[in-house]
Amino acid sequence: MKIRQADRLKALPPYLFAEIDRMKAEVAAKGIDIISLGIGDPDLPTLPNIIDRLKKAVDNPIHHRYPSYEGMPSFREAVAQWYGDRFGVDLDPVGEVVSLIGSKEGIAHAPLAFVNPGDVVLCPDPGYPVYSIGTMFAGGEAYLMPLLEENLFLPDLSTIPAEILDRAKLMFLNYPNNPTSAGATREFFEKVVAFARENNILVCHDAAYSEVYYDGELPMSFLEIPGADEVGIEFHSLSKTYNMTGWRIGWVCGNQDAIGAIGKIKTNIDSGIFQAIQEAGIEALQGDQEPVEELRKIYQSRRDLACGYLSKSGFSFMVPKATFYLWVRTPEGLSSAQFVGRILQETGVVLTPGNGFGAYGEGYFRISLTVNEDRLQEALDRIGAVSW
Ligand SMILES: *Cc1c(COP(=O)(O)O)cnc(C)c1O
Repeated sequence: MKIRQADRLKALPPYLFAEIDRMKAEVAAKGIDIISLGIGDPDLPTLPNIIDRLKKAVDNPIHHRYPSYEGMPSFREAVAQWYGDRFGVDLDPVGEVVSLIGSKEGIAHAPLAFVNPGDVVLCPDPGYPVYSIGTMFAGGEAYLMPLLEENLFLPDLSTIPAEILDRAKLMFLNYPNNPTSAGATREFFEKVVAFARENNILVCHDAAYSEVYYDGELPMSFLEIPGADEVGIEFHSLSKTYNMTGWRIGWVCGNQDAIGAIGKIKTNIDSGIFQAIQEAGIEALQGDQEPVEELRKIYQSRRDLACGYLSKSGFSFMVPKATFYLWVRTPEGLSSAQFVGRILQETGVVLTPGNGFGAYGEGYFRISLTVNEDRLQEALDRIGAVSW
């Protein structure tokens, strides 16, 4: 029998990292030592207090049964408490917080709750690919909002055509931003609230990197803006803050009606997060936060090392105030794929080509600061030794 795939799988965009994966295997087969600055996955282990809490929780049979789909009340209370302490945002843990099996899960499923076939979803380009693919899986159409360096990688809302605004249901935003590492200003978020109200568009803000910041400059939550809870929700995650990418735990919070709608989708798809992991999540949010400050110092020192070296070598980029990424222009005349391909083949250093995040990422590459300083220095030395 021939297995016939659904049209939605055929409609997936080409996987732009396939060529990199192939080259990487080829380079590794030659015995070249590969240094990957490619993926955005913290290299350091989950903090020990969180691991200990999981170990204890896992022995308790009360946690062995089906969890509730919306999350344990104690986990959602810990989230609400943390939002209050960190952002001064007041959340009702019962109606305004739903746990997610990692925020990617919620981002991918959210369009099912709001988008009808033919509806438009505004998505950033370059951007995390899940926004537009979740949209497409729900039968919606992604309208790509260019994030341009001249606008500090914020979308220019005034350029979105009226015909698109009429059909738009959702807008995805993500600050601090992956892949550009840009931050949002309060003025921008205020504009977004007014824009959403005027056009009846639900704002889905992805705040995965709010705790990976530098120089003591704390990024904002979208929900801090007056009126944001009428027009928006925020996705958040323990993955990046606490080195917990493998644990699959996050949440979405904000507008009660929107959270209820996502909850309805989730009751019909999954059965929540293993309770022992939610216990560990409570420990992450309520335990000692000093180790998180230490992690920020580690990233900051890597950032300073990489930025110093790259600017000396003549590369052009904005120094990130948050995230563990550097978004760097390729040398004059080289496409993202040409640059990244040559670096990989000649040096064994894996970088991410900017066009993998969308057409407006062309001409850039992304460096992930998720290797130790020795390896980072080695990678930078190798990149710097290539002549163009
Ligand atoms: C890493 C990341 C996420 C979150 O991932 P989860 O592990 O699924 O919580 C969400 N958005 C962006 C932009 C990311 O880079």
